[in-house]
Amino acid sequence: SFEIDGAVVKVDDFETRKEMGSTNKYPRWAIAYKYPPEEKSTILREIEISVGRTGVLTPTAVFDTVQLAGTSVSRAVLHNQDFIDEKQINIGDEILVRKAGDIIPEVVKLVKKNTEDVFKIPMVCPSCNSEIIKTEESALRCINPECPEQLTRNIIHFASRTAMNIDGLGESIVYQLAEKQLIHDVGDLYYLTFEQALTLEGFKDKSAKNLINAIEESKKANLDKLIFAFGIRNIGEKAATLLAEKFKTLDALVDANAESIAEIDGFAAISANSVVEYFAKDTVKEVIEKLKNAGVNTEY
Ligand code: ZN
Repeated sequence: SFEIDGAVVKVDDFETRKEMGSTNKYPRWAIAYKYPPEEKSTILREIEISVGRTGVLTPTAVFDTVQLAGTSVSRAVLHNQDFIDEKQINIGDEILVRKAGDIIPEVVKLVKKNTEDVFKIPMVCPSCNSEIIKTEESALRCINPECPEQLTRNIIHFASRTAMNIDGLGESIVYQLAEKQLIHDVGDLYYLTFEQALTLEGFKDKSAKNLINAIEESKKANLDKLIFAFGIRNIGEKAATLLAEKFKTLDALVDANAESIAEIDGFAAISANSVVEYFAKDTVKEVIEKLKNAGVNTEY
């Protein structure tokens, strides 16, 4: 009668419990018993390909809706071509799905092959139609620097909580701004006007004002946040902080060579090269000019 994901089985006699005792961490008289995740078979109807902010393509399985652990599930990430090859699946096949840890839907395996082939991710970008390359890590990437989906994903990352933390600038707003051609890169965010914000779906005086204020507020963000917000390959939050600590200003970082960056303790050569490559791009130089002219903080 009740949806539960398992139970704790306990010895129900106090004397026996005492006798069994415990390890450093757990009593020996109780153990968690988890039911195996519920699995259902369904038909794979579609494989959607999305483009991430670094251009990596990710396939997602779309299948006939099934009820799993109390919710409707119709999508599961397929990771990459290797994963698809391993499962031998194609659109139209019957597959077995479950929710891993009762949370994240996943494709377990092929149940019945209704097709002859295995799905191959098309070697063109679904956003810009550019040719796709295969990286050393066997990921598929769109390397067009003007790819609209990548630019949009970059802006979403820039605004996110752990980056510049621009409250209210979520995914759907960024997509709208990009579609309306109001912003092309993260620099344009700081030139967005109240009147332009008012043209967004469902926006009134107050919401438009809040958005502009949140963008304005983000100008004060510390340099480590800004470096992380750029979304440089191989540069996570930790590496961004190390860079900010060493170079103190964005200008100094932009001028730094790979050797001096690699001197930072715990910094891999590959990450140092990513930084130098990133700041060498003309498009990046333009963005930095826009940010500086708008008064975005570039100091640590
Ligand atoms: Zn593309």
